[in-house]
Amino acid sequence: MRQSQLFGKTLREAPKDEVAVNAKLLERGGFIYKTMAGVYDYLPLGLKVLEKIRAIVREEMNSVGGQELLLTSLQPKERWEKTGRWEELGREPMYQFKDHSGREVGLAMTHEEALAEIALRSIQSYKDLPLYVYQFQNKFRDELRAKSGLIRGREFLMKDMYSFHRDEKDLDRFYRIVDGAYKKIFKRCDLDAYVAEASGGAFTKEFTHEYQVFSEAGEDIIFYCSKCRYAQNREISSMKEGDACPKCKEMVKSAKSIEVGNIFKLGTKYSIPMGLLYSDEKGVKKPVVMGSYGIGLGRLMATVVEIHSNGLGIMWPESTAPFKVHLIVLDGGKKAPPSKAGRASPTAVGGEKFYKILLAKGVEVLYDDRDDKSAGEKFADADLIGAPWRAVVSEKTIAARGIEVKKRSEKEGKIISEKELLKRVI
Ligand code: ATP
Ligand code: MG
Repeated sequence: MRQSQLFGKTLREAPKDEVAVNAKLLERGGFIYKTMAGVYDYLPLGLKVLEKIRAIVREEMNSVGGQELLLTSLQPKERWEKTGRWEELGREPMYQFKDHSGREVGLAMTHEEALAEIALRSIQSYKDLPLYVYQFQNKFRDELRAKSGLIRGREFLMKDMYSFHRDEKDLDRFYRIVDGAYKKIFKRCDLDAYVAEASGGAFTKEFTHEYQVFSEAGEDIIFYCSKCRYAQNREISSMKEGDACPKCKEMVKSAKSIEVGNIFKLGTKYSIPMGLLYSDEKGVKKPVVMGSYGIGLGRLMATVVEIHSNGLGIMWPESTAPFKVHLIVLDGGKKAPPSKAGRASPTAVGGEKFYKILLAKGVEVLYDDRDDKSAGEKFADADLIGAPWRAVVSEKTIAARGIEVKKRSEKEGKIISEKELLKRVI
């Protein structure tokens, strides 16, 4: 992508109304646009990151046997009345309104009711179980506090998976498998997530599990043991800082953290009111046992930014970076001058040519070909946007028959040959 043509420009200063680091950096970098509190648009750079994250999540959900589908946001009141949640969630945070014909409808903020209803057509007998389905879908929630950028949106993309089982034992089996998949997802995003026990609230008497990443931007507080990694959300915990860990006796600490995902055992809470039953081997009708598993994609992206950034900008892990290489061309660097023999020197490469080489090799590259920006402005943009590798082509590098390369995490670049650079980034 040529930066001269990129939709979405970097900003020198963060918008005044933003407090969260993720929102400041993502808006300044041209990744997102704030439409209103808690409502953000993804611009091309932001969408690239979102798609990287979506691909990781999708791969792991497919690997546990998940089937992808896509359900609606707009839903009839009657569906939600069956579980009593129309009234419960109508107080907050569900958006509910009347359409022009006076019919009451709502914007789904989660999809247990919808899936329990739709699954009626797929599940009749024990032979139809287990089943796992998931989607990437925009959720709407009228969140009271929407000050944390993408961490707390009022419209946000969630991956939600729902599982259907014949009994608790089979749910337990799958729950552990999803736990493994979630750990892989967060690791692949270069995040260290603690698995914290939390209250199931209205859902279940059992604990649910939250994937918590330490961060000052977090809205949760967890008590945790750094030795055995046992953790609990403060909201339910009887532990306090300095206590002995109930599992290994090490001292318990506390930290602010971001809940990047969670997994729930729903039991029969939704299947019974929705009439989702199956017949067992003897023809006895039993309620289907369900689980649900969520990850907020924007929140995950924001968490990567909170963790992987410094005062200059974002430092994307390769797995989530919008581009792998930010190629910058400075004055006189677009084309290498012809050699004495009248042909371009075989080892000196200009920016335009190197851009084409990278594209041909399939390297994702943002090419800063802008003629109206100074070297300082280009470098500042590269630090802000945060691609893992910065490559600079200039008169100086051409004279040295190389390209200057610097990792985002390094202070100084060094000139190496084109061949060597390709070896590193491919
Ligand atoms: P929280 O306690 O943070 O409000 P929640 O318990 O409401 O989260 P769920 O309804 O289970 O969360 O949603 C599943 C996942 O979706 C969460 O783990 C989180 O990653 C994400 N998520 C929830 N609410 C939001 C939001 N307002 N904006 C962005 N992501 C969200
Ligand atoms: Mg919530």
